[in-house]
Amino acid sequence: AVFLGFLTVKQVVAYHSAKNLYREEDKSKKVKIGFSLGTLKEERWVKDRDIVMAKLKELGAEVLVQNANNDDEDQLKQVKYLLEQKIDVLIIVPNDLEKASYAVSLAQKEGVKVISYDRLVTRSNVDLYISFDNVKVGKFMAEYLVKRVPKGNYLIVNGATTDNNTKMIKEGYDSVLKPFIDRGDIKIVKEDWAPNWMAEYAFNVTDEVLQKGIKVDAIIAGDDALAGGIIEALALHRLAGKIPVVGQDADLAACQRIVEGTQAMTVYKPIDKLAEATARMAMKLARGEKLDVKNTIYDGKYYVPYYVIEPIPVDRSNLDDTVIKDGFHTRDQVYRNI
Ligand code: BGC
Repeated sequence: AVFLGFLTVKQVVAYHSAKNLYREEDKSKKVKIGFSLGTLKEERWVKDRDIVMAKLKELGAEVLVQNANNDDEDQLKQVKYLLEQKIDVLIIVPNDLEKASYAVSLAQKEGVKVISYDRLVTRSNVDLYISFDNVKVGKFMAEYLVKRVPKGNYLIVNGATTDNNTKMIKEGYDSVLKPFIDRGDIKIVKEDWAPNWMAEYAFNVTDEVLQKGIKVDAIIAGDDALAGGIIEALALHRLAGKIPVVGQDADLAACQRIVEGTQAMTVYKPIDKLAEATARMAMKLARGEKLDVKNTIYDGKYYVPYYVIEPIPVDRSNLDDTVIKDGFHTRDQVYRNI
């Protein structure tokens, strides 16, 4: 036998093949991704869940999904559970922008990369915030309304104060409404915030305003679920279709209301784009690769990478060319009563 130091050739070959075998195993080890959703209440989140899961599986990952049903403590427990399962990346839709920060810190302690999905977790230095341009969502809502109602009384029912998107949307519509308000052309007769984005809350706010006999000429709803509650209240006062209401999400019910004439517009956010990009980037993070995201957003403490997707304003005139053309909803679904 030939001697190499203390090792025989046989031993060296055995050592190298064992090393390669180990590497092979390493490569084939499945990436594990945890997806923690704050809620599944609004229609869109089911799409988010399904598409993110499908794309990640397509890319070879194992996916664990949890839904906290708007409960902050449950979300924390669920993130702890996901971390126990040794996930490589945590994708989180925070129920509460601040409280979720603790869950994020636990992940970071374990070396788990974190993606803040659709909603930003504040003061947390997440590895990536991926969402639509939520400031633009608010801008689109107001730009639509000021064209139709350049003078008059506005009612605003925002989403939850615990959701950073509520702030971003407000920043957007405020910037458009400000000159109108300063000139005295537009008056905000009431502005409120629906806890947990509850449609019933929006119904009650609207009903109360109308019962008081306050004249309302235009309404901004934080999303289409709230728009639904508002329009029910309008119907009760025989005002549905007479006061333009705007929302966001292009929920099926909202698209149906648009063709029926009880909702004026919505903001369509192509969920598949958000979900696909998220899956791609989660895999990169899992493999320790760098994300090429130049844009940033300030989370109250840190500047974090922000991957932005463009939202699209939709009213009756372009519903077919956007929402339906993309297959977000089918024509039959949207025009079922027409
Ligand atoms: C999302 C909306 C959604 C709302 C309620 C927001 O953060 O951006 O699309 O309707 O939460 O779940």
